[in-house]
Formats: sequence, C-alpha cells, structure tokens
Amino acid sequence: VTHEETLGFQTEVKQLLNLMIHSLYSNREIFLREMISNAADACDKLRYQALDNDALYEGDSELRIEIEHDAKAGTVTVRDNGIGMSREDVIQNLGTIAKSGTADFLQQLSGEQQKDARLIGQFGVGFYSGFIVADEVTVRTRRADLPKDAGVEWRSKGEGEFTIADIDREVRGTEIVLHLKEDAQEYADDFRLKNLVRKYSDHIEVPVRMPKTETAKDDEGNEIEGSEVETWETVNEATALWVRPKAEISDDEYKAFYKHVSHDFSDPLTWSHNRVEGKLEYTSLLYVPGRAPFDLYERDGARGLKLYVQRVFIMDDAEQFLPLYLRFIKGVIDTKDLSLNVSRELLQQDPQVDKMKAALTKRGLDMLKKLAKDDEQYQTFWNTFGTVLKEGPAEDHANRDKIAGLLRFASTHTDSSTQDQSLASYVERMKEGQQKIYYIVADSFNAAKHSPHLEIFRKKGIEVLLLSDRIDEWLMSHLTEFDGKSMVDVAKGDLDLGEIEDEEEKKAQEETAKSKEDLVKRVKEALGEEVQEVKVTHRLTDSPACVVLPEHEMGFQMRRIMEAAGQ
Ligand code: ADP
Ligand code: MG
Repeated sequence: VTHEETLGFQTEVKQLLNLMIHSLYSNREIFLREMISNAADACDKLRYQALDNDALYEGDSELRIEIEHDAKAGTVTVRDNGIGMSREDVIQNLGTIAKSGTADFLQQLSGEQQKDARLIGQFGVGFYSGFIVADEVTVRTRRADLPKDAGVEWRSKGEGEFTIADIDREVRGTEIVLHLKEDAQEYADDFRLKNLVRKYSDHIEVPVRMPKTETAKDDEGNEIEGSEVETWETVNEATALWVRPKAEISDDEYKAFYKHVSHDFSDPLTWSHNRVEGKLEYTSLLYVPGRAPFDLYERDGARGLKLYVQRVFIMDDAEQFLPLYLRFIKGVIDTKDLSLNVSRELLQQDPQVDKMKAALTKRGLDMLKKLAKDDEQYQTFWNTFGTVLKEGPAEDHANRDKIAGLLRFASTHTDSSTQDQSLASYVERMKEGQQKIYYIVADSFNAAKHSPHLEIFRKKGIEVLLLSDRIDEWLMSHLTEFDGKSMVDVAKGDLDLGEIEDEEEKKAQEETAKSKEDLVKRVKEALGEEVQEVKVTHRLTDSPACVVLPEHEMGFQMRRIMEAAGQ
C-alpha cells in the first residue's frame, strides 16, 4: 500500500451521513439496492465506452455483479466488473456530493425522523447508504482504462473522514466491502441477501450472482462426500424489464423498476409501457412519481428519461424527449432510430428525437388522463405536480386542449382551497345562458375567495374559479378558452354577463349610472391621475367600490412578478 492519505468529507456529506444513519433506520435494507444500482450503472458505462474501444474489456466482456457474505467476519461484499474508478474519481464521487441544490436541501431537514426519511428518499441516498448498516466500508477499485498498479483503496468509518491509498488491482471494476454493525449482522445471510436481490434488483439487466455450493450425487441420490464445488448462481431475472412483454410483468416488478430509475423509495402513482413499431421504433416506459424530487424547481435539476439505444445504456436524464412541463415523468426510452454514438448535442438537432418527443408527450398526457379517472390518486398527483403542469399551455400550444382538460382549480362551487374542479365540470354546471368561464386571480386563496369582484356572481349563483398560485396569471394568459367558451377575468374590463342578465336589469343599471353621473365626476376629480376612469358598476352588491383593471392590462400578480424580476 502506497501513497496513503486521509481526507475530510465535504461538509454536506457529513451532514447527509449523520441524518441518513438516524432517519433511515427502518428502511435500511435499501443499502443493497443502492450498491447494486451503482454496480449496474458502472457496467452500463463500461459497455457504452467499449463501443468504440473494445480494449476496455481486457478480454472479459461478460459484465456481472457478484454478492458474497461472510457471517463470521460480519461482512457483505458487492463486486462488479464495470468501469471502475481512478483515484480522482474516488475522491470526487465518494467524498463529495455533486448534485446542485444540495445545501438548500439539507437545510430543509428537521431532525424529525419520519419527515427526514421521506426527504432523503426524494434526494436519493446512493453510495453513502452503506453506512446505515456498516460501521466501516472498504472500496477497492480500478478504472478500466488504467494499468494494474492504478488501483485504489478507500476506507471510512463514515465519521467525517476517509483514507485513500494506491493498490495493485488485477481486475478492473469495483468491490465494496461493508463491515456490518453489530445490529445489522442479519444481512450476512444467504437467504436474506437473495430475497433482497429479487425484491429490488430483479429487473437489472446485468446478472447478479451469488456463490452456491454444489454437491454431486450418487445413483441413489445421496450426496457424495467431498464432492462440493463452489459455483455461481444468477439470482435475478437479468433481462431488461422494458423488453419483456407487458403481460408477463407484475405490478411489483414495475414498481421495483421505478425505484431503480427514479432513486425514489416510494411507489409510483402510475406507469405506461409501450412498444412502437413502424416509421419510428422504440419502447418507452413512463412513470408518474407519487412525490416530487427535491430539485423539481431547480433550474438545473435532474430531469428526463434514461436513454438506451438497442438495449445499450447511453445516458441518464435525456431531457430532449419530454417537454419541461412534464419534467416530473421518469422512465426509460429504448430506440433503434438513434446512433449508438449519439450525444446530448446531437439529440438536440435530430428530427427523429422531435418526433419521439411529440409521441411521448401524448403518451404522458394520456397516462395522466387515465390517472384522472381515480379522483383520489389524481388529487395526489395534482397537489404534487399541478403547478408544473400549469406551465403546459404556454409551452405546448399543440396540446393546449388536452392539458386544459387535466387542470384542476379551486372554485366558488366548493369554496375550498383544494384544487379539485376540472374545467369540464365547471362547464357542466354553467347557468342557462352563461357563455363564459369566469375566474379571479389573487395573491392568496383567501384574497380570491373574499374579493368584492365576486359579489355579483355569488348573488346570481354563477361559479368563479379561484386562482392564487404564482403561475396562474401566466397560465390564464395562455389559456383563453376551453370547450369553445372564453375565459374571463372578473376583475378586468367591463363586466358583461351576457344572457344571464335580463333586459330589465340592464335598463335599471343604465338608469342608476345616469343618476350618479355627478358622483362619478366628483370621485374622478378627487382621485385625479390615480385612475384612468371611474364608472358605476353592478359588480358589487355589498362593497361600495372596487379597483378594476382595463381588459388588456397586465394583472396584479404579473406586475409583481415583473417588478421582482427588475422590469
Ligand atoms: P448516483 O448513483 O446517483 O450518481 P451514488 O451516491 O449512488 O450517486 O454514487 C456516487 C458516485 O460514485 C456514482 O455517480 C459513481 O460515479 C460512483 N460509484 C459508486 N459506486 C460505483 C461503482 N460500483 N463503480 C463505479 N463507480 C461507482
Ligand atoms: Mg447510485
């Protein structure tokens, strides 16, 4: 062992380790899934790089993951012959956290076990989860393109520092030895490990093998003493899940696969698995998560699908296949129509990609439409991702109607802040003669609900949508109609209730307006430059006066956003 040094973990790693060990106690078996997941990623990466450099295989192209245990020593070892790591890789990958927004994320953690467990799940636990069950972790690794003496050994007790040393390593790839804690010895068990592999990693395409002792038998079926040989047994299914026929895949398998691609550890809300043949050939497996990732609103947060070309893994987070407003969708696309050498830059220019994006967008929207048949499930979806979907009408004109059908709003129909009313149900409830869909935008639900602009509507029993999300005004500026009915902001312009008003009422209003001309004049003089116009209105039934914006003016909410942006 040479060139040994001890380095400190990045502050964020220390914080994460501390919190993870304490809050994930009841989920601790996931450490194995994380180790296998990393090993499978490493195999994927090697296979990809070997496409144009066969020498990387060093004569061994049979990629695999091996799991061994030693109950006496209290260890579990996870080994792969994937890409491996250089010394720099190790320091970077196993000493820091590279995700953007990590510091913000850590600040949200409260020390409250259950809440933090959920948040850490959203963050993705990864390699450091080894320390939930181990009080010492040893990693031995060598990168596939480096000589045998460029091996690295990393050791840590997970307490703030790690030691790193150069070693000779005959084989490429990575071996992780978990020295189990006193209370985690149960994992050094053949049966337990096998079950966990099947539970979490069945669908991984790389075979996961475990040692097995085979004993020869004589003619009568008795074991022959001394004939034991150690062999390897593949424990998982080891075919890519999306390649298998739908009918043969169980819900549990779909769910386990979701956890693999999303790093989430709760179940998805729904999924959609499709094989497309014809001009374009691809298979897609899309999921709607049950909860938001920590970086949903980060500008450079992870989004997009895992891209495969003819079963070969190409890249994570290929964001060219879905629009931004569907960025919460996770999953896989595997196609024959792209070159194995495709890069992010090439993806951006490829017209085939645009076609797939259009098709996948439809699939995504259809999947949501199906989900919407289940009110409870859809409400979970809406509460989690509704504000993201609201970006849709502005981003995707072609699918505006489909998206509009998926939106949910709070409304005077329920007067509750829960956004659970669809535009279609609003239209169904429209009053006889009503031709428009009315809404109001305010800073908060309560401000919307108690706005004086609603008085006339409440009196007449006309429903008004109550909008108060930051994005709502932006949304409504791109959603001008639904089902042939125009959308009208009740706080803007002249209020024309159309046929809901009868002639008599109109006449009475006109008369009132005439009789109050003097008052109007005086008010206008008093307010001077502050207002454009003063009018007598039938908007109000209880309040004496209210402020109205001209029809084509920017709304209050938009103004505030523009001001905040320094415009
Ligand atoms: P993630 O898998 O989300 O990137 P992890 O915490 O699981 O995050 O792993 C951190 C990094 O450590 C990985 O991105 C990878 O670069 C490296 N790594 C972990 N395990 C292995 C392995 N078995 N082989 C090669 N690299 C690995
Ligand atoms: Mg990982």
